[in-house]
Amino acid sequence: MEWVGPSLSEATASRKKDSPDRARTLGIAQFEALRRPVSQSQSSPSLSQPTSKFAEVGITGKYGVRYGASLRKQVKRMEVSQHARYTCTFCGRNTVRRESVGIWHCSGCKKTITGGAYTLATPAASAARSTLRRLREINE
Ligand SMILES: [Zn+2]
Repeated sequence: MEWVGPSLSEATASRKKDSPDRARTLGIAQFEALRRPVSQSQSSPSLSQPTSKFAEVGITGKYGVRYGASLRKQVKRMEVSQHARYTCTFCGRNTVRRESVGIWHCSGCKKTITGGAYTLATPAASAARSTLRRLREINE
């Protein structure tokens, strides 16, 4: 608003040579005409920006510019997997959701499963499970 002021007074000053009253009304009309396209051109990128920005920042958009880009990137991976739905190994439905740290619950068959803190299955858990099965088969 304030930055338009000097340009408006310049426009009125240049038009004052012809007729002061007409110049003033023309200046205001110009000012109003200038204002509208400016506000439109300012609003349209701001409307398209969040959609394009969201594709990049995703769920970490809530942090804005805080905490640094690499930390937000790390947290993004965790928060996305934390809130995702996983396929239940018992009923096969895509209904397993995180209840709290390491606790996952299937709303389809009402089973509660232990898992990773932010993902249902971790590489370490899968390795431990396969090792246990292998050792059990050797024992038998
Ligand atoms: Zn289930």
